[in-house]
Amino acid sequence: MKMNRLTLASLLTVLFLAFGAIWTLAQDADRDIERIAGEVYRFRNKFHYSVFAVTPEGIIATDPINAEAAAWLKEALQRRFNQPVKYLIYSHEHPDHISGGEVFADTAIVVAHERAKAKIVDEQRRTAIPHLTFTDRMRIELGGTTVELSYVGRNHSDNSIVMRFPKERVLFAVDFIPIETVAFRDFHDAYIEEWIDSLERVERMDFDILAPGHGRVGTRDHVRQFREYMQDLHREVLKHARAGMSLEEMQQTIRLPKYEKWLGYQSDNNPNNPNNPNWFPMNIAGMYRYIQNHRRPN
Ligand SMILES: [Zn+2]
Repeated sequence: MKMNRLTLASLLTVLFLAFGAIWTLAQDADRDIERIAGEVYRFRNKFHYSVFAVTPEGIIATDPINAEAAAWLKEALQRRFNQPVKYLIYSHEHPDHISGGEVFADTAIVVAHERAKAKIVDEQRRTAIPHLTFTDRMRIELGGTTVELSYVGRNHSDNSIVMRFPKERVLFAVDFIPIETVAFRDFHDAYIEEWIDSLERVERMDFDILAPGHGRVGTRDHVRQFREYMQDLHREVLKHARAGMSLEEMQQTIRLPKYEKWLGYQSDNNPNNPNNPNWFPMNIAGMYRYIQNHRRPN
């Protein structure tokens, strides 16, 4: 059979369009799903991520992010896996991660730390109120998949938990272990020394893959790197504060070149650029405020 160039070009166009149509079933510009390990997947909604595990008895899902994202995910899970969400686990109570839980509440048991539930109720968050809470540890098993929930102390909030999938060696941790990124802005609502303790607890846990709530997937070693960043920042700000330096002087003076390649470190960029936010001077300000408020008596 002889095929002329025009026919070949048309065939390629048809194939391209067909593959394009299949591909867009699984993703659009703002959202997609990718496999991390085994049956544990990662869901992205713009700059926010959560994870879910697919089992023969249903799906264990985590942060719904918001109602629109949750509706998209629910539909994608139904179409792709034909399974209902049986558990929905909140990482912490901040609304940018856990709004929209009501989308899954028809089939799911909603789980969170007990202080997350209290805040969701008190502050009237737009999400499903947790059915099941815990203080230190909880283990959920469904269809041969286990997820271990651990409270590791106060850090970015007072109710953040980590979720470990031991079989897949994945840990999902949100907002308190950025990967090769300085801390978000100025440590609003944070507990800095306890945060460092909680990072050390996570460093002692057994996993290979770190799935964060923002940015790319990392490894267990990224926990150590961020813990060292927090300690280095604390030490430098404390030293300069003891020398009587003002905040403005510190922001001009303090440099941590070990982290100069990290997202958010460079202080001479555009603060409105979401791809390289100007957070390092804000980290200095937040650490200085923390040190002033937690000065120990001599
Ligand atoms: Zn948060």
